[in-house]
Amino acid sequence: MDYSELSKKLMRLQEEANPGMGISCVRTICFYLELGDIESARATARNEGDKISRYPKITIMIHENLVDLGRYYQYAKHPLFLDRTLEELETCDMCLKVFPKKDRVTTHDGLFRFCSNECAEKDTKERENPGNPDLSTDWVRQM
Ligand SMILES: [Zn+2]
Repeated sequence: MDYSELSKKLMRLQEEANPGMGISCVRTICFYLELGDIESARATARNEGDKISRYPKITIMIHENLVDLGRYYQYAKHPLFLDRTLEELETCDMCLKVFPKKDRVTTHDGLFRFCSNECAEKDTKERENPGNPDLSTDWVRQM
């Protein structure tokens, strides 16, 4: 897809996503795309990632054709997001997977957030044994 075509598609998507108003940061990206200033288009997309991430189709279109949107792309691709069940999603501090907030396990008064007890335990062990990649032998030694 060339950048002019991408711009046209994004213009259509931002109008559909918010009829009558559109999404101004997406129009800014389109403006740069039409100018051929791809670096500015990418920078705008990265800076406005949290706003763009509310619109999964736009997030996917930008990620797959312009710039890596990282976890926002994962959110957009998540079935719970696409199903519009309004599950809030976040990223596990251990395995970096996206998961529904209701499944969140926290440690250190909520400072760290994990998708499961396994990830929380793994994280705790790594913090207690910094720089020791072989945790299993360490556990054996302590017994
Ligand atoms: Zn995890």
